[in-house]
Amino acid sequence: MERDAERLLEDVEAFCREIRPIEELAYAERRYNDQVIPLAQKHNLLGMIIDPAYGGRGADTVTYLKALSRIGREGTTVRTFFSGHLSIGAYPIQTWGSETLKRKYLPRAAKGECILAFGLTEPEAGSNPRQMTSTYRRQGEGYVLNGVKYLISNGGIADAIVVFAYPADLPESDPRRRISAFVIDTHVPGFEAESFTAQAKLGLPTSNTAMFSMHELYIPAENLLGNEGEGFRIAMGTLVSGRLSVAAGCLGVIEDCLAEASQYAKERVQHGKEIARHQLVQEHIAMIEMARVATAALVHQAALAKDRASAHPQDPALAREADLLAAQAKFFASHAAWDAADRAVQVFGGRGWSTLYRPARHLADVRVCRIYEGTDEILKLKIAAAVLGKEWEAFH
Ligand SMILES: Cc1cc2nc3c(=O)[nH]c(=O)nc-3n(C[C@H](O)[C@H](O)[C@H](O)COP(=O)(O)OP(=O)(O)OC[C@H]3O[C@@H](n4cnc5c(N)ncnc54)[C@H](O)[C@@H]3O)c2cc1C
Repeated sequence: MERDAERLLEDVEAFCREIRPIEELAYAERRYNDQVIPLAQKHNLLGMIIDPAYGGRGADTVTYLKALSRIGREGTTVRTFFSGHLSIGAYPIQTWGSETLKRKYLPRAAKGECILAFGLTEPEAGSNPRQMTSTYRRQGEGYVLNGVKYLISNGGIADAIVVFAYPADLPESDPRRRISAFVIDTHVPGFEAESFTAQAKLGLPTSNTAMFSMHELYIPAENLLGNEGEGFRIAMGTLVSGRLSVAAGCLGVIEDCLAEASQYAKERVQHGKEIARHQLVQEHIAMIEMARVATAALVHQAALAKDRASAHPQDPALAREADLLAAQAKFFASHAAWDAADRAVQVFGGRGWSTLYRPARHLADVRVCRIYEGTDEILKLKIAAAVLGKEWEAFH
């Protein structure tokens, strides 16, 4: 492995060791973990995928996903922060942003001076983003945005957010009415965010999830991401990166469940012997291990495909392959992690049901991985269409 990649993973390891007790305390108190950002800053992890030309560490997908797997062991909460900031925050700016936009946001993002998020979902537009009602219009040297975005990771702590909107002045029937992508600053008039309280969440109590509104929010013209009308393509391209991050995080969850369940099973004695000697408990260990092996292979395969596609951005076949493998890896990994957490809870017995122990927290937190970045159902439709052919797509 190259020295840079090795050093990055060493820094990730150091971050993970430091964040664990802090995350455990925040989780017990069900409050936002405000130490993730400072510690990530300390270990220089906020620019993992950002090009060194903009102050980042330039990790390739394979290395970055190893980092996210390791972070995933600390919890889906902590990993979700990095997905929001990097995989779906910095990634679209780096991939489709103009030089001006990259210079404006990426160096500050890498330093932790500008936390990022990705705002696609709206109250009435989830699985079908084309149903969004956010709008933009040109005004003077810039654009004015209006709309509400919902369930946004880091939405209440971000300094800048990638958002999507339709042109306000074209009717729905007009074929020129296409979604555009923008980067908005959050410390400006017209932006208002409201974070979900931890108590209202099934999982992820220590991460920030928010809804925000844009009311006559003005941005300069340079904050258009890509060209006007390219927003849908940018959103879908970003979801490939986001899905990979979820799959990698799920691998970490499985690894942690395996470590926790194995250790506990070797220590806990019932019926005169360690429960690890009971064959039905061994079945849980074997199944979690198989989940780990299969998920690791899929995540690695998908990461290689993404690096191949990134190296040849003009090749549509490579892009399609990366897109499909990311969807498959995310679908498989999120189910495998859910099952692994469930089995680890079972191995822990009554203690497994308590969120004072890691398996219960993984079980509650990892459930969202079957919802965000493409629900189970949407990914199944995508995978089936890849098998059946384009004319069998469930929706267009
Ligand atoms: C903790 C958390 C963090 C999130 N972070 C972000 C973020 O950072 N940025 C962002 O933009 N969004 C984010 N989301 C939103 C997430 O991506 C959406 O919740 C998800 O895409 C589903 O949309 P929805 O909730 O509106 O469900 P809906 O689209 O209303 O779907 C409801 C159900 O219907 C099913 N369904 C819908 N259409 C079809 C169909 N055609 N065929 C079959 N089944 C269908 C769905 O699969 C689902 O089971 C987050 C969500 C959560 C819970």
